[in-house]
Amino acid sequence: MATNRPLEREYEVPPEESPGKTCPYCGRPFRSERYATFHIGVDHAEECSEDEYEAFEAERDDEEYDLFTFHFKAAISVFLVYFLFTFVYALVWAG
Ligand SMILES: [Zn+2]
Repeated sequence: MATNRPLEREYEVPPEESPGKTCPYCGRPFRSERYATFHIGVDHAEECSEDEYEAFEAERDDEEYDLFTFHFKAAISVFLVYFLFTFVYALVWAG
């Protein structure tokens, strides 16, 4: 099992904190239900229940949706700037 993924640090439960959720498959503590859901979907995809995998996919879809809207907004801004320049350029030549 890989231990040096960037998210792995987030998974760690500090000693003063009590884990919000413990993995039912390997007993690993997590700070929140969400991290456990991700962990189960990634590390226990084969053995987890359908419900657990669906929860994981729902979480993952959320992330992808955020990423999609971010790219979408970026693309729109680039388009608007390009359009504005073309418009100003056309105005200058028409005037
Ligand atoms: Zn586990």
